[in-house]
Amino acid sequence: EKIMTIFEKIVAGEIPCNKVLENDKFLAFNDINPKAPIHILIIPKKHFENFQEMDGALMGEMTKFIQEVAVLMGVDKSGYRLVTNCGENGGQEVMHLHFHLLAGAKLGWVDAATDPQSTF
Ligand code: AMP
Repeated sequence: EKIMTIFEKIVAGEIPCNKVLENDKFLAFNDINPKAPIHILIIPKKHFENFQEMDGALMGEMTKFIQEVAVLMGVDKSGYRLVTNCGENGGQEVMHLHFHLLAGAKLGWVDAATDPQSTF
């Protein structure tokens, strides 16, 4: 039996989430450990390990869904950051494709060459 990721368990209703928006193909919910005043995770219900595995046509539909989340949260005009961590060097921890939508404040940006956390 295949081991499900935590996000697949959320899609299956086995684990609760703080839902923001949902349709038949996608789900948006609040990140449990927010890194900005607004920190939403947006996932396809179908399993893809990460962005590199994602289907292009479904990504087109997902684009519209993400834009709807931004409008719903009232940040479509003020702005936001959309991030997907892909694979080991990307720092991906949950192996089910997800986009982080970060907003609600002017966000900082680090330079990989000068960030003391970075080994680059
Ligand atoms: P990543 O490093 O891109 O894989 O990020 C995984 C994200 O999932 C982190 O920001 C976590 O805080 C978040 N996370 C993990 N478990 C849950 C959960 N049960 N509900 C909501 N967010 C979660």
